[in-house]
Amino acid sequence: MHIAGQWIGADQRDSLAVHNPATGEEIGRLPCATPEDVEAAARAAARGFAAWKAVSPFDRAKVLHRAAALLRERADTIAPILTREQGKPLAQSRLEVITSAEIIEWFAEEGRRTYGRVIPARAPQVRQMVVKDPVGPVAAFTPWNFPIGQAVRKLSAALCTGCSIVLKGAETTPGSVIELVRAYLDAGVPAEVIGLISGDPVAISARLIAHPEIRKVSFTGSTAVGRHLAELAGRHMKRSTMELGGHAPVLIFDDADAADAVDRMAAAKFRNAGQICIAPTRFLVQEPLFDTVAAEMVARAEALRLGDGMNPGTDMGPLAHERRVVEIEALVGDALDKGARLLAGGKRRGNSGCFFEPTVLADVPPEARMMQDEPFGPVVILNCFAEDDTAFAEANRLPYGLAAYGFTASAARADRMMSEIESGMVSINHQGLALIETPFGGIKDSGYGHEGGFEALDAYLNTRFLTHRS
Ligand code: NAD
Repeated sequence: MHIAGQWIGADQRDSLAVHNPATGEEIGRLPCATPEDVEAAARAAARGFAAWKAVSPFDRAKVLHRAAALLRERADTIAPILTREQGKPLAQSRLEVITSAEIIEWFAEEGRRTYGRVIPARAPQVRQMVVKDPVGPVAAFTPWNFPIGQAVRKLSAALCTGCSIVLKGAETTPGSVIELVRAYLDAGVPAEVIGLISGDPVAISARLIAHPEIRKVSFTGSTAVGRHLAELAGRHMKRSTMELGGHAPVLIFDDADAADAVDRMAAAKFRNAGQICIAPTRFLVQEPLFDTVAAEMVARAEALRLGDGMNPGTDMGPLAHERRVVEIEALVGDALDKGARLLAGGKRRGNSGCFFEPTVLADVPPEARMMQDEPFGPVVILNCFAEDDTAFAEANRLPYGLAAYGFTASAARADRMMSEIESGMVSINHQGLALIETPFGGIKDSGYGHEGGFEALDAYLNTRFLTHRS
């Protein structure tokens, strides 16, 4: 943990074990914050905020650029830490670190452009201005699927706008986040501007969100936890950003290029072992293309080499922890019991580690649990439709609205998808989501607020109106 400028190790507190999901072995321990630690972190964030907001955006950008450079320099050290804790192949971990450096650079520059405006007045001698100020100390909670990639978006948006931040990362994947925080501090972010705490998430979030010094809450994770944190934020009148779960439909119409659709979507599906909130999950394929898409998808799933992410030949690593294997096994078992057809995979692999086979299921009935609950793992649901209306109705059936994909050669169908699919992000004929310069966020039960584009900065800024008659 990093609290009030001090690093606190697992030997100084009660601690939790961190495991390698590929082997099951304990690879480290994580300190658990006491109530006093949370209090100290919030108070330090208040002092840090007072100092950091006084630094000009120009100078904050210089510090952030240095942090990005340090992260790049340290990528080969940080990537193995990420793989050992989270399971993803080493090349994907390295890419996550390098992409995180790019994200810091983008926020460094964009933070210099948090412009206000001047509004012409109705009366003479009156000036009217809109200014953007940092919202204040932030409480942020990030998950384990992209430990650095998720944390860097919240930290960089807060830092470039002049906010301080207390971050609680995921208990299962702390090491790379510690290195990220170290890079910002080594680059010159004042010590009290960034707090990093760990331990019991329920107790920490309850205390931190209620703390009077905290002005903003940002959470990425499941809709269930998001609801709980949004309630806490509401009770204490804190602004919040909620990046929650999804259940992305993929509409493949009969005029689509089926091979290209499978090529793009299989890669998006199995990356990070399917543990991505925008991963395609419900494939809806029009009848004439169904058999081709199914055969191609099975071939992709069966070609993937499952293994320890540290081995250079591995395409897909284990799931991130044992809970995920139990959940995916239960979802697949339930779908098969209710009549789904198993086309590939379908079970746990090996006697150690959290490996689950890339899985393809067809004809999954609407009453199967995975047709309601996000299957956060390497599972493809392939269902067939005849009429366009059926696919649109299925795409919008669930309360989620994060990502949606479509494949068609028809401008009319593409236009209908863009206007009728209830989703915060819609990508047609490619996977074009999650770029830092574009807004990333959901609607409906997938949450509110954005983590990309200018919208990401606005979430950390107060808008104030000033008027002066001279
Ligand atoms: P989990 O609910 O046990 O933990 C998920 C994460 O939420 C952990 O990092 C945990 O620290 C945090 N968390 C839990 N309760 C919290 C609280 N009260 N306050 C603050 N943080 C809290 O479940 P899990 O098995 O790890 O994942 C379950 C589901 O989470 C997945 O099925 C998926 O839907 C969702 N998820 C979403 C994302 C995303 O990017 N949106 C990432 C990871 C997980």
